[in-house]
Amino acid sequence: MAMGHQLRPLAIVSASSMPTSLISRNVAVIGAGASGLVAARELRREGHKVVVFERENQIGGTWVYDPRVEPDPLSLDPNRLIIHSSLYSSLRTNLPREVMGFRDYPFIAKTDKTRDPRRYPGHREVLFYLQDFAREFEIEDMVRFETEVVYVGLVEGSKKWKVRSKKKRGDNDVEVASDFRFFDEIYDSVVVCSGHFTEPRVAEIPGISSWPGKQMHSHNYRVPEPFQDQVVILIGSAASAVDISREIAHFAKEVHVASRSVADETYQEQPGYDNMRLHSAIECVRDDGSVVFQNGRVVLADIILHCTGLSLSECLNFKASGLLVFYQVGSHSHHKRR
Ligand SMILES: Cc1cc2nc3c(=O)[nH]c(=O)nc-3n(C[C@H](O)[C@H](O)[C@H](O)COP(=O)(O)OP(=O)(O)OC[C@H]3O[C@@H](n4cnc5c(N)ncnc54)[C@H](O)[C@@H]3O)c2cc1C
Repeated sequence: MAMGHQLRPLAIVSASSMPTSLISRNVAVIGAGASGLVAARELRREGHKVVVFERENQIGGTWVYDPRVEPDPLSLDPNRLIIHSSLYSSLRTNLPREVMGFRDYPFIAKTDKTRDPRRYPGHREVLFYLQDFAREFEIEDMVRFETEVVYVGLVEGSKKWKVRSKKKRGDNDVEVASDFRFFDEIYDSVVVCSGHFTEPRVAEIPGISSWPGKQMHSHNYRVPEPFQDQVVILIGSAASAVDISREIAHFAKEVHVASRSVADETYQEQPGYDNMRLHSAIECVRDDGSVVFQNGRVVLADIILHCTGLSLSECLNFKASGLLVFYQVGSHSHHKRR
């Protein structure tokens, strides 16, 4: 999704319709990614008092590369440590920079040696751009870093919102309740810009519970070296599948890409690679480690890598009560009550 199309926040929590007269409000913005940064700037321009809550220690959201991966490689355990960003080290934008910038602050190529002037730049360049934007409009002054919102709810009998946030007491990394201080505050409005790309989707495969190989989701993929000499089944055909399959083919023994958007009999060599084949979807897997494709081919594999995308179904990572009015660009507009 182009950031140029994200001038509107992902979601707005409002007890009543938006005010028509210019009244200064106390507004909480949750998240300091691209959406939160621009929302904060616009709200302050309109004369509102804005606090941006950001659970990480810097702005940029998904564009902050994190070399760590989640302890559960499939990201299914609801109690796992969640790593927000899905960026892999080599990721470049899949949109040209011309459509990624904010309308009044274009994402222009910079000539500075530290910058990436390509039209489809690497992920670090997007972070630099967002940092430039934040600096230019002095947005960090509004941000409370390392402060996570854990609850948003209507105050009974009023049109205001209670926001509960938590902040670590010190540098202690052990996350137990006593290491946090909790704060309750009241705001007139809350703008939710917490991102929505955190719930990996995993393909359903008959027989998978007794398949002995490894599995992981591309959310936890960073670099290709761990795939050295492995036979890899990679599921998917979208942008991440295309990037990652080509990257790991330089290290893996074989890469077999399973796609459900090709005909059942498909079995094709991939141009430029002598160790990569495109197959139709997986039919089933067996407890001897083999993977059976709909095209009838059988491959003994070491690992299944799910490049199957991230779910939009659950975009709030805090407790909420009251009426939430969701605004979303494109075809996903919906309303939801919590
Ligand atoms: C792998 C990948 C590649 C992409 N490639 C492109 C591309 O090439 N071009 C493009 O235009 N878009 C791309 N996107 C889309 C990208 O998500 C958007 O460009 C944009 O960065 C989303 O910004 P956001 O502010 O909505 O969310 P995010 O960037 O996810 O920011 C959300 C912020 O909210 C914070 N937060 C979350 N919950 C809380 C909480 N409870 N309390 C406090 N803080 C919280 C997070 O720490 C984070 O900083 C890509 C996305 C992914 C995942």
